[in-house]
Amino acid sequence: MRIGAPDQAPGGVAPDVTAFLDAPQMLIGGQSCAGEAGSFDVFNPADGSVLAQVPEASEADVDRAVRAAAAAMQGPWAAMSGAARTGLMLKLADLIEENGEELAQIETLENGKSIMMSRLIEVMSSAEYIRYMAGYATKIRGETLDVSIAIPPGTQYTAFTRKEPVGVVAAITPWNFPLNMAVWKIAPALAAGCTVVLKPAEETPLTSLRLVELIREAGFPDGVVNVVTGGGAVGAALVAHPGVNKVTFTGSTDTGIKIGTRAMQDVKPVTLELGGKAPMVMFDDMDLSLLGPATGIGIFLNTGQTCCAGARLFIQRGIYDEAVSTLKGIVSSLPIGPGMDPANQINPLVSAKHQAHVTAAIERGIADGATPLLDLTAPSDGYFVAPQLFEGAAPSCALMQEEVFGPVAAITPFDTEDEVIAMANDVRYGLGASLWSKDINRVMRLVPKVQAGTVWVNSHNIPDQNMPFGGFKQSGLGREHGSTALDNFLETKAVCVAYS
Ligand code: NAD
Repeated sequence: MRIGAPDQAPGGVAPDVTAFLDAPQMLIGGQSCAGEAGSFDVFNPADGSVLAQVPEASEADVDRAVRAAAAAMQGPWAAMSGAARTGLMLKLADLIEENGEELAQIETLENGKSIMMSRLIEVMSSAEYIRYMAGYATKIRGETLDVSIAIPPGTQYTAFTRKEPVGVVAAITPWNFPLNMAVWKIAPALAAGCTVVLKPAEETPLTSLRLVELIREAGFPDGVVNVVTGGGAVGAALVAHPGVNKVTFTGSTDTGIKIGTRAMQDVKPVTLELGGKAPMVMFDDMDLSLLGPATGIGIFLNTGQTCCAGARLFIQRGIYDEAVSTLKGIVSSLPIGPGMDPANQINPLVSAKHQAHVTAAIERGIADGATPLLDLTAPSDGYFVAPQLFEGAAPSCALMQEEVFGPVAAITPFDTEDEVIAMANDVRYGLGASLWSKDINRVMRLVPKVQAGTVWVNSHNIPDQNMPFGGFKQSGLGREHGSTALDNFLETKAVCVAYS
């Protein structure tokens, strides 16, 4: 069912969704299958009920999936032209849209997020992302190179490079944007001609399982995309598998360090998109009417469960009181409730475990001396946490240094540019940041000083498929999006031809 289709059940769960949740299956070598290790429960964060039972992959399942992906690298897929790959990818994008409402509902039911976010970001932007990457399948190119080789005398040389698919890709994704993250990895890998074994997060495997059904329906050859489900051990088995040629991971920095370390034992190339603790730096001359989007998108998008969430607000002294008062009013007015009701902007967190983590981070912030500014209540069913803003957090405390990944931000006043840049950079992460000012001279002066993979100006937390995305410092290794994303899945081969 398309998003907004006339037969869409108003506020209810579509029958297709209920049928899918009854028996979701993995996909290995083009065959739907259960997990050899049994199954595990996936919960609905809005009420804590069991939503579905999902296959638990064994090491043997992982091995079968990698072998299927390796076999597909030798099959019809390898012989397919870039144009043929483009065609399949465009078909997949169409199928995602045709099944958009179903995918959006599955996403909201497993992750908790607003159905509006599921429709717009998870579904629509995933389809657009695939279309964007599909174009690159016909634009892979090497270079011709002048060379100066002079031996043996009289021999002439010409050289060129070929870009070749790296091979079998292990793609491991987090729970915060499950469908989007899967597509960010699968689409450029397919455009490059690679095959994929996807391991989605154990909290939110369902849209990935539905996605691979659509990949099969689109007509991709068997084994080109496979999915195995389970926890970190399944991901670890995948990373360590000798048949995997490339690892691409999005998730926490701690897990990324483990994955990178393991991959390096086999010298497998790795792309890591990791955590963040983004600063939003607001100057006296900013347009205060932007505080609305700054709050709703910059800080609380996805209930704060975004890697670029503006978790640290630095506000210049001249507007500090007015801005803090406005922010308190905006946050207090954000409706809290289940994501299936599109009116709600603060939704449940993904899991009981994450709810406990965010609650503990709030309590620790208070214990460390920060002052909570809000006294809001959240529904008691499900994994809700009420939004919170803090003042007075010491620069070294956990609230300022560690990812909370929930509806929580710490606000700090500042006086000078030098002071705020030092505070903004005083963290192990460097994923996103934003500068809010009407003074273009100030902005251009400060952009180079901010240690972050993306600097937004008068906006925050807005990615685009054409903008490289990734982190400085411990926020990651490599970039996704744009042509760089394709490079992650291509090897460069130099070819040197002698002639006389
Ligand atoms: P996580 O690191 O706990 O898990 C991510 C994935 O890794 C899951 O699929 C998990 O099963 C798997 N995994 C866990 N241990 C593993 C191991 N030893 N070997 C292989 N795989 C393993 O992250 P999460 O809690 O699911 O997601 C939240 C994190 O993701 C946050 O830190 C957030 O900042 C980050 N994130 C980053 C970006 C980005 O682009 N930089 C985007 C979204 C989320």
